[in-house]
Amino acid sequence: MEKLVSLCQRRGFIFPSSHIYGGLSGCWDYGPVGIELKRNVKEAWWRSIVQQRDDMVGVDTSILMNSKVWEASGHVTNFSDPLVECKDCHLRWRADDLKENKCPSCGGALTEERMFNTMFKTFIGPVEEDASVVYLRPETAQGMFVNFQNVVNTSRKRLPFGIAQQGKAFRNEITTGNFIFRSREFELMEFEYFVKPDTVEKWFDYWVEERFKWYLKLGIKKENLKLHQHPKERLAHYAHSCTDINYLFPHGWSELEGIVNRTDFDLKQHAAASGKSMEYFDDETKEHYVPYVVEPSVGVDRAILAFLCDAYEEEPDKDEIRVVFHFHPDLAPIKMAVLPLSRKENLAAFAKDVYATLRPCFTTQYDDTQSIGRRYRRQDELGTPYCVTIDFQSLEDNMATIRERDTMNQIRVPVPALKNTILAKLSGEDLFVLPEGGKIWKQESGG
Ligand code: ATP
Repeated sequence: MEKLVSLCQRRGFIFPSSHIYGGLSGCWDYGPVGIELKRNVKEAWWRSIVQQRDDMVGVDTSILMNSKVWEASGHVTNFSDPLVECKDCHLRWRADDLKENKCPSCGGALTEERMFNTMFKTFIGPVEEDASVVYLRPETAQGMFVNFQNVVNTSRKRLPFGIAQQGKAFRNEITTGNFIFRSREFELMEFEYFVKPDTVEKWFDYWVEERFKWYLKLGIKKENLKLHQHPKERLAHYAHSCTDINYLFPHGWSELEGIVNRTDFDLKQHAAASGKSMEYFDDETKEHYVPYVVEPSVGVDRAILAFLCDAYEEEPDKDEIRVVFHFHPDLAPIKMAVLPLSRKENLAAFAKDVYATLRPCFTTQYDDTQSIGRRYRRQDELGTPYCVTIDFQSLEDNMATIRERDTMNQIRVPVPALKNTILAKLSGEDLFVLPEGGKIWKQESGG
């Protein structure tokens, strides 16, 4: 984990928040490369959950909501973790994280457990009094529940269908840590899948399998994933059952995503508290009922940590160690780098032309600093799948070399064929399917 954190800072993936002031615990900033990775993770999720399905729609609801939402949903009374305090050093700990009944820092005795509500409070408007208290949402789900009828009435969706959302959430965690695994400000990707009550088990199993496959499709190794069913006594207040997809993080197996059967709990609570009906009319069976809900929920940042850990590799390369992120091409922050072998004017002009034709199609970097070997290493550390190298020969034969991140193989391709060749490779075609006029390049030293 230490190596990963330092690489992430060095290469512009992730920085501690407010770092010039010593940071702020549980808060992180994404840098120029990290934001591309984050957008790609969110895009991949949105495409697979919303855009490629007929039974799903998206929303983007506000972070601040009427406080009655959180009273009805049970969060004001129940969204709490057990807190203990060391009687000697006064550090505070989350009781269910502790292996022994003593302070992990100084070994001192601990106080009795008390429940600590982890919702952040603030005030709306210019008056700081109880009547103006609002909460920063700890989950995005409630924005979808309170809009259930709006969506049914405007989208013409019939059950089963889902509402999906991505957005910031805030939890005043008792302890944070393990880099971006547990933060106080983070981003969620979650959806509420509304079903006929007697079909909920079937849909629950369906979504556990679908979500598990999503990680595999994006390159996570199967041996690093497993399912974990929550015992009844450790369920959230709204949950009937819950299965986690766990990942083998550097600190051990931990929850990556939770899939919960929330039953009709939330809709019924809101119906009772608001006086508005949350019933659905089933035109097939002519029945009125409140749907049941299956909710898969994952933290964007936690998913990013899993993708970073899984892609990170240190490989022996001649006398050195090559550090590389083997990201899935859909997730790679930068898809391609154009690297002129020298800064000589005629070569630079040619390389910039190539760059200008490729940049509209791919997230591309232009890099003409340092030796070519060091530039390849730098791109490996960013996880860039392909480097396009322009050399003096290119000026004569109008060809360029594509160097592949994972195998370090090189092929020589006509410049007009670069775009289609890389498009084909990014969508998974064999590296050695060469365009007409291309050839496998004999690799020379420093490749
Ligand atoms: P825990 O019991 O570990 O605090 P939880 O079971 O309450 O977490 P959920 O409410 O199920 O967590 O949250 C859904 C998902 O949101 C989690 O699987 C995780 O990916 C993400 N998540 C939850 N809390 C955090 C956090 N503090 N930082 C980053 N991601 C989080």
